[in-house]
Amino acid sequence: MVRYVYDFTEGGREMVGLLGGKGSNLAEMTRLGLPVPPGFVITTEACRAFLTTGGEPMGMSREVSDHLKAVEKAAGRRLGQRDDPLLLSVRSGARFSMPGMMETILDIGLNDDSVLGLAKVSGSERFAWDSYRRLVQMFGSTVMGVDAALFEQAMAELKDLRGAPDDMHLDAGDLAELVETYKTVIRRETGESFPQSPAEQLHRAILAVFESWNGERARLYRRREHIPDDLGTAVSVQRMVFGNLGSDSGSGVAFTRDPATGHPGPYGDYLPNAQGEDVVAGIRNTVPLSELERLDPTSYARLCAHMRTLERHYRDLCDIEFTIERGTLWMLQTRVGKRTAEAAFALTAALADEGLITPDESLARVSGEGLTRLMFPRFDTSGNGDPLARGLPASPGAAVGAAVFHSAEAVRRAAASEKVILVRRETTPDDLPGMIAAQAVLTSRGGKTSHAAVVARGMGKVCVCGAEDLEVDTEAQRFTAPDGTVVEEGTVISVDGSAGAVYPGSVPLVDSAVMRFLETGDTGDTGEGSAGVVDAVARALARADTVRRLEVRANADTPEDAVRARRFGAQGIGLCRTEHMFLGERRKLVEEMILARSDTERHGALAALLPLQRQDFVGILEAMDGLPVTIRLLDPPLHEFLPDRTELAVRIAAAEARGDLPVARDVELLAAVNRMHEENPMLGLRGVRLGLVVPGLVAMQVRAIGEAVAERTRADGAPQAEIMVPLVGDVRELRIVREEVQRVLAEVSEASGVPVTCPVGTMIELPRAALTAGRIAEEAEFFSFGTNDLTQTTWGFSRDDVEAEFFSAYLDKGVFPTSPFETIDQDGVGRLVGIAVAEGRTTRPELKIGVCGEHGGDPESVHFFHAAGLDYVSCSPFRVPVARLEAGRAAL
Ligand code: PEP
Ligand code: MG
Repeated sequence: MVRYVYDFTEGGREMVGLLGGKGSNLAEMTRLGLPVPPGFVITTEACRAFLTTGGEPMGMSREVSDHLKAVEKAAGRRLGQRDDPLLLSVRSGARFSMPGMMETILDIGLNDDSVLGLAKVSGSERFAWDSYRRLVQMFGSTVMGVDAALFEQAMAELKDLRGAPDDMHLDAGDLAELVETYKTVIRRETGESFPQSPAEQLHRAILAVFESWNGERARLYRRREHIPDDLGTAVSVQRMVFGNLGSDSGSGVAFTRDPATGHPGPYGDYLPNAQGEDVVAGIRNTVPLSELERLDPTSYARLCAHMRTLERHYRDLCDIEFTIERGTLWMLQTRVGKRTAEAAFALTAALADEGLITPDESLARVSGEGLTRLMFPRFDTSGNGDPLARGLPASPGAAVGAAVFHSAEAVRRAAASEKVILVRRETTPDDLPGMIAAQAVLTSRGGKTSHAAVVARGMGKVCVCGAEDLEVDTEAQRFTAPDGTVVEEGTVISVDGSAGAVYPGSVPLVDSAVMRFLETGDTGDTGEGSAGVVDAVARALARADTVRRLEVRANADTPEDAVRARRFGAQGIGLCRTEHMFLGERRKLVEEMILARSDTERHGALAALLPLQRQDFVGILEAMDGLPVTIRLLDPPLHEFLPDRTELAVRIAAAEARGDLPVARDVELLAAVNRMHEENPMLGLRGVRLGLVVPGLVAMQVRAIGEAVAERTRADGAPQAEIMVPLVGDVRELRIVREEVQRVLAEVSEASGVPVTCPVGTMIELPRAALTAGRIAEEAEFFSFGTNDLTQTTWGFSRDDVEAEFFSAYLDKGVFPTSPFETIDQDGVGRLVGIAVAEGRTTRPELKIGVCGEHGGDPESVHFFHAAGLDYVSCSPFRVPVARLEAGRAAL
């Protein structure tokens, strides 16, 4: 029989799919014997059933009431009991953390009677009425759908009336009055009364949490984080404990280590006399956790002990939420904590040193995406005077942009390609679109665990929070710094999320310490506390290099790029595009080759190009001496080297209009351009087709390669050139070109006296090539997947146009989670890759296979290529370290 409800004592973290992150970890803490208020979890399966059928699954209510009885029994009180009510919290908790994106309802069980009982047993009328007020407000907005602003307005009006600066100045009588006002609002807005039955409150709250899975902000967050839409949320129902019962109570959020740097903890924020929600909402400013040691040393010591237990048990950085109720510590949540990229590297290295995890686990826990982030530049603030203000360094990195004060404005300006910084007093989940659109988030309130901080860190977005000195006036769309500087909407500011500082104007950027290490191999301390992370990156890369099977090469067309790629650890060049060598001053020679009216003219142009090409190759072979360099024969349509058709036509027409004779060369060029014009040039005369129809082109390029190899060999080098033919669709095309290659290389060997041989291979970038790879391998000594063209031709998407045109609609509608030009489409393009690998190796078992499309440096795609059995990936030099790391992770 399907079960929909599990007591905390019955579950564990291995049940995360069914019980969600929060529920499974509450169960795990219960199992570890930590002080967790009793409760139970309704499964994600129940939620999925509810979302698909629109009704709760059979038997769920009964299971809920059975489990409720057990909680009541343990507490010795019933839900909503008049004289001493048991109160419950009802919280969402999906498999993947979605902070603040779904609903929570607290204080379930209070009604007009039990509020009096609570007042008596707690000894505080104010507390009881404040709790009831919170319930009616939360229930009214989240369960009954009343606009939350109406409650806020009622509260503001009452505060005005009483002259109360904040809600702490409202007394029990005021709060009781507010409850009545809220109830009236609910009746007016919904035609229904606030339900007095605790059982009904519980039931409806559970369903409302289910429904919040499909709320707008939850859906947006999932899309951003690539969380599947069909997982559903679990619901945790738990006995309430109260942090707002006086000065011996409070709530806090803590990390076992610093989630920004990975430095050993504990570390967090505490708010005396407050509920957990108050801490995260940033309504009042928190004190550092260390303050708790002074306020309540016993609870602090217990908390530290529990955190040590958790870190050892999870073998990772954990974050927790806790509440102290009249001196008793309760653990309300834990999970493996989100962390910055810097912390991820530093702390996994530290955990490995402590023997808690193995070097391979350490490698598994860092990512290429994180490494990319660490390679970003930071601010150079040396010459920039004082910051406008300081806040908490909540999420590292450097960002420059125009200050904006509303989420919608951030979205609007970002859509027009403007870089913006979202400035708020504090953020709420409603600000999510603006946070996504902005370069950075800056808030004047809230700790490092505030909504702004947690969400920004998760997104890898720069964030400074709790910049208390800033007076943020969102209405007037400006903020004022302590020195009186007023920053209006649209003014450019710079936000340093690593240092927690805000600067006026645009601050220049400096390279990262990690980049410096990658470029120079220098792991030394730069005096910026970066040695730990640099060392951790070095270790992760070293481990990755030990375990990976995939080689990593670079796409590089110049000696400079080749040198950089080699420093980054490239094991050769997987794609040297020769078309870039035909630009600039050489364009004229290419024009001549195209315009040639006779073989002699064409040979003249090619002969002039030959020494230039040879020098290009000598430089690159020298930079990559001893390592393979795959040189691709010319690929793009020739008209790309000719002047623009419209420009030429206008030039000629203008001359004619002036009564002049147009320049003869222009007329000649226009005729050639017209002759060569193609509607779909990417599907036209390019790649191997050029080699077959433009006499002498292949021979010239191959001769240049052969002579460069001979020259390097004579200079005692170890050149390893490989010749690659693009856009092959049929083995016969390759055969013709290959014969020519071999003929020319034989001539070069003969003439130079240096035996020159180069493997000849092909790109696989057309579906037909993939499907006939078995035949093509008869002529190819290696394959390299050109996944850019292969994606274009498999999907029928123009790689130059569609991303800007309609991909955002496709991403919105979930046709694909990321652009197939960025992450390999495993089902379609990937299937062709699989076929080509299998059939190619059947023909030629020793066939070397790589990929040189953009996907070669994309972390997820690298894992796919590893699994597909490729020998190497090739990517832009800057992505080489990322590819090395991911190739290592893929091999674990
Ligand atoms: C490809 O098509 O994936 C490729 C690497 O070639 P290009 O991008 O130069 O067409
Ligand atoms: Mg291509």
